[in-house]
Formats: sequence, structure tokens, C-alpha cells
Amino acid sequence: YRADIERESHLPAITADGIPINLLANIELVEEVVSAKDNKADGIGLFRTEFLCLDLNRFPTEDQMLQKYGELVELMQPAPVTIRTLDINGDKFNPYIDPVEEANPALGLRAVRFCLENEGIFIAQIKAILRAAAFGNIKLLIPMISCVEEIIRVKSCIDKAILELESEDKIFNKDIPLGIMIEVPSAVMMARELADHVDFFSIGTNDLIQYSMAIDRRNRRVAHLYQALNPAVLKMIRLTVDAATEKNIDLYMCGEMAGDAINIPVLLGLGLTNLSMNAGAIPVIKKMIRSMNVSKARKDVQVILGFQTVQEIVDYIQTEYRDFL
Ligand code: PEP
Ligand code: MG
Repeated sequence: YRADIERESHLPAITADGIPINLLANIELVEEVVSAKDNKADGIGLFRTEFLCLDLNRFPTEDQMLQKYGELVELMQPAPVTIRTLDINGDKFNPYIDPVEEANPALGLRAVRFCLENEGIFIAQIKAILRAAAFGNIKLLIPMISCVEEIIRVKSCIDKAILELESEDKIFNKDIPLGIMIEVPSAVMMARELADHVDFFSIGTNDLIQYSMAIDRRNRRVAHLYQALNPAVLKMIRLTVDAATEKNIDLYMCGEMAGDAINIPVLLGLGLTNLSMNAGAIPVIKKMIRSMNVSKARKDVQVILGFQTVQEIVDYIQTEYRDFL
């Protein structure tokens, strides 16, 4: 099976019954493009821009960001690159970036909340992204959206960034897709309304599991409850799929869940076709996809959604897919 994974790594990710799936890479540094390409990623599904700040111990300037993002899109051209705006604080705390220590960082001034309180930093980043979009295929992704007001405020920041770029006579492209991470339960419950304001969703299961199960994703004492296949998590994903389908917007998943083969039958059965993961996982996931039928996965999901415990779900998938896991 290992040898097959290698041999098939350059083949398209199409299920046995002919459904094409996009497999994209999650990266934190531009240098990881090499690994994304080696593993035949269809694009970058998540560029975690906060790592540049965390490494520099300060916010980069607009021009520094433009240089990095421009390099990235040119290297990936013509494949798409989804650039996520700063997701600092929470599990990405750095005292040089924001010295305020919070009692509950996961529930604190994290990601878009921080950006909306620090508009200058946010607008500089948006300007860099729109400028880089003149050189390649970019999508703009906003993390940790928890209500409609936030996306409305984000859009007014984008408008301000565009006005500044126009008055500075900069070359840029403002016609790029805007998406939000769905990683907070309130966003799942408001997915239909949020879909009216954006072009795509990307489900962030790392945080969606944390916030749905009320467990700190870094706390080993509650790691046993960090369950991607927990029925509650699957219901959250299904609600998000339903909203994206009804509102006809694109749907991605970029949490670690998408990079673990045991989860693939459920994800494909629920209707996901764009999966972003650690680049090293792509060949294994591709092999899984090429071996399975979406028609069967759809039926499996009907059974799985009837189970009450994670163990029944895991046992069912392990039995049904024992030859591919
Ligand atoms: C997620 O939460 O699933 C995600 C992809 O983002 P991060 O791991 O950077 O929080
Ligand atoms: Mg997240």
C-alpha cells in the first residue's frame, strides 16, 4: 500500500466513481512551497501569515508583506493561494506582538478581533494582499469570525484599504474572493447569514473542535475529548455544508481533520470537495480518495449520523474501510 501511495502521487485526486477532489496545502512559511509542489498540491489552501510576525517578533511592514505574498503567488502561479489575515493570540501568543496576557487566551482578543481593534495593522496587511493579487491567483481569508457584524467591519476595512491604494496610485487587484474561517460554533449557527456577505467558507476544524467540545486544543489533560469524529463536530460540519450549498458559495476545509485518512469517507460523504492539509499528508489522502466511492460514502454518512458516540463512528469506518486505512 505504501508503494502504491508513492506511485499514484502524481495522479489526479478523483474518487473511483469519478468525483474530482481538490487537495491543497496548509503552509506557514513561503519556503514550504517546495513541499507543497513535491506533494502535488493543487494550490495553497491556507497560508498562516501570523508566523512571519511571530518569527520577526514584530509586525512586518506593508512592503515586507507584499514581498512575501508576491513571492508565494508567483511560485504557485497559476494555482490558487489562500492568504489568511493575522491569527495572533489564542494559541499563537507572542509577548513582543501583543504584551497583554489574557486569562483565557482562546476566548480572548484573537485573530480578527485583534485586527479590528488594531485597524492600522489590519489595513496594511489587506493592502499587501491586494497588491500581491496583481501578480497571481489570491483568495483572502479571515479567521475567527463569530458574528455578522465582524464581517461587515472587515469589509469596511477592505474598502478603506482600496481607497488608500487608489490614492497612492499603487498597482493592485481588488476583485479577489473573500472568505471566512468557520471555526467558532456561533459562525456555524449563523452560516446562512454569513454566506450572504462572502464568497467562500473554510472550515477550521482545529478550533471548531476546541470550541465545540469546550477543550483547550493544547491541554493534554483533555486531549481525549479532542475528537474530530465526535457526533457534535460532524453535525457542525453538516450544518456548514448545508448553508454553503443552499447559498451556493464555495466550501473548503483546512483543519487537520482533512489530513487524516480515517475522516475522509465522512468528509466526502458530507459533500466536501476542497481539502487543505499539511502537504506531507496529500499522497496518503489522495490514495484513499482514489480507492473510494462517494456514492457509498454518502450512504455511510447517513448511518454515521445516527450514532450517538464517537467510538461507534470510528468502529464503523474502520470496518467499512479496513482495506484503505
Ligand atoms: C483551524 O483552526 O482548524 C485552522 C486551520 O487554523 P489554526 O490551526 O491556524 O488555528
Ligand atoms: Mg483556527
